[in-house]
Amino acid sequence: MPGEETVVDVLVVGTGASGMAAAVTAAHHGLEVLVAEKEARYGGTTARSGGWLWIPGTRLAAEQGIQEPPGAAKAYLKHEATTHFDEKRVDAFLESGPKAIDFFTRNTCVQFDMPAVFPDYHAEAVGGQQGGRSMVTRPFDGRELGDRLKQLAPPLPELTVFGMMLGSGPEIRHFMRAFKSLTSFIYVTKRLSRHFLDVIQHGRCMALTNGNALAGRLAKAAMDRNIPVWLSSPVKKLVTEHDGVAGALVEHDGKTVFVRARRGVVLACGGFPHDIERRKQLFAHAPSGKEHYSPSPEANTGDGLRMAEDVGGHVDGTIPHAAAWVPASVTTRRDGSTGVMPHFIDRAKPGVIAVTPKGRRFTNEGDSYHDFVQAMVNVCKGEPEIFAWLLCDHKALRNYGLGCVAPAPLPIGRHLRSGYLKRGASIAELARQIGISPATLEATIAEFNATARFGKDPAFGKGTKAYNRYQGDVLVQPNPCVAPLDHAPYYAIRLVIGDIGTFAGLVINENTQVLNTEGKPIKGLFAAGNDAASVMGGNYPGAGITLGPALTFGYVAAMQLAKTAATVPISLHVERREAIVVERRA
Ligand SMILES: Cc1cc2nc3c(=O)[nH]c(=O)nc-3n(C[C@H](O)[C@H](O)[C@H](O)COP(=O)(O)OP(=O)(O)OC[C@H]3O[C@@H](n4cnc5c(N)ncnc54)[C@H](O)[C@@H]3O)c2cc1C
Repeated sequence: MPGEETVVDVLVVGTGASGMAAAVTAAHHGLEVLVAEKEARYGGTTARSGGWLWIPGTRLAAEQGIQEPPGAAKAYLKHEATTHFDEKRVDAFLESGPKAIDFFTRNTCVQFDMPAVFPDYHAEAVGGQQGGRSMVTRPFDGRELGDRLKQLAPPLPELTVFGMMLGSGPEIRHFMRAFKSLTSFIYVTKRLSRHFLDVIQHGRCMALTNGNALAGRLAKAAMDRNIPVWLSSPVKKLVTEHDGVAGALVEHDGKTVFVRARRGVVLACGGFPHDIERRKQLFAHAPSGKEHYSPSPEANTGDGLRMAEDVGGHVDGTIPHAAAWVPASVTTRRDGSTGVMPHFIDRAKPGVIAVTPKGRRFTNEGDSYHDFVQAMVNVCKGEPEIFAWLLCDHKALRNYGLGCVAPAPLPIGRHLRSGYLKRGASIAELARQIGISPATLEATIAEFNATARFGKDPAFGKGTKAYNRYQGDVLVQPNPCVAPLDHAPYYAIRLVIGDIGTFAGLVINENTQVLNTEGKPIKGLFAAGNDAASVMGGNYPGAGITLGPALTFGYVAAMQLAKTAATVPISLHVERREAIVVERRA
């Protein structure tokens, strides 16, 4: 054991939503907590996320006048999780989720806004709802974080406009309608003016939105409780003593420190989106592990999973989908680095369709990202490569943008020059550019347009589901998701498979304790967020189904730790050295 040692009640590994939720809850309940973060900045994937949480039955829903029929959420999750419905964990989620929201919104600066309508992704299924389950993190003023704002991980560049992450929902709609509605024009002008003023005064965007607001709010809640967060301090190995986990070895300030955790260690390392070996094992579409593109932070290399496996934990590799899939496009940023753009919303817009490498439509483009990728995989079975083309006409491109290409009046030249956006003066010309038979693509679009003129898509039913319509353009009727592609020129972007977080994770119980292969809890070891196997059984029921459970089970882990007796006899404790509790500046 190396010389340096410090003692806390709880060691939390990772500063995403799950880790920070555990840290804040534990500290609030009187435990001494230390958070160790591998990266120089805190926030993980959470900081680049949409900041949506899916939790049924909360006070926020009741305040909107939404009361779910009893049992609806459980029935819905049973339908969604299919083979991997874990009743005990689902019950724990449904019972503790509303409590977690009450805890955070009543005791901390972590606040959410619940829109009256945000349909579940399969709202038509048993127990599905039109609203009352998905909530978004309330925007947050970065000034609240003082100097520590500099250490907050930034949003994904691909999801920002002039360095500003647009709030989901109404804000994005205002930006898309800026030149069509006076209200939107005024909104956008004010938002941009405030942003540019912030950039002049502070060198960055201060109005934090979405996941950046969530990571910022959780960090502020941690600061308010004086929770030390060690940045640039990867946790390397769990240490076992007697019959449980006693702490971990953490690299900190050039030294290896043994952090003894009297009550336990919470693994919250954000899963394995960048662990090539595990991708190879669990992502069928990525036989070498490299045929996959993740917009998650590169530090999420599955450390939590490996560390738990070393002490007897195990990963559920049988889950039907090992990750939350998203169709993505790959772009080159201005600084030459590679960006991965997740396509969440553009696919649902009118005048947009997707086709296979052979030029045929294959699915309802307005379906969720997770479902869309499954369709992509199915249709490309037996092909050497899995990809698709997202197509639109000039009208759709300028109205809504496509992938990284922003709507009018922002220019598109850079994307054409880089080859990210393909353009053809006619459908045949576009087809030639993207290696599809012109006759096939012309036939595909002619067939779509014939019924699209009447707002219909008999082939795949685009716009027939509540979630499709929610992401469409309400100003386009009768079908907000369907319009013909008939305004030349035509455009295409290549879609590949990505993820927004992994689903296959450590097998845990309803109290978030990591289980060994015999199904017994490993003393002193907890996992939350994407380090734990998804409570959704590897499926994607609605907006926020990773962050909702991440916050909830972070809270559950802490509540469990608050009732847990210390694992190590008090005589073994070493005095905590204050000098170690410092943050490394980025
Ligand atoms: C663009 C985008 C949008 C998304 N939008 C949503 C959304 O709106 N709603 C939703 O539910 N989900 C969304 N997701 C998914 C969601 O962001 C993640 O599932 C979630 O943030 C995972 O939280 P976490 O706490 O498990 O991990 P993370 O937030 O990734 O945090 C893990 C942290 O652990 C650190 N770490 C890793 N290894 C170590 C180590 N050895 N020692 C110390 N620290 C370590 C990492 O550096 C990281 O900071 C989105 C994802 C993306 C990419």
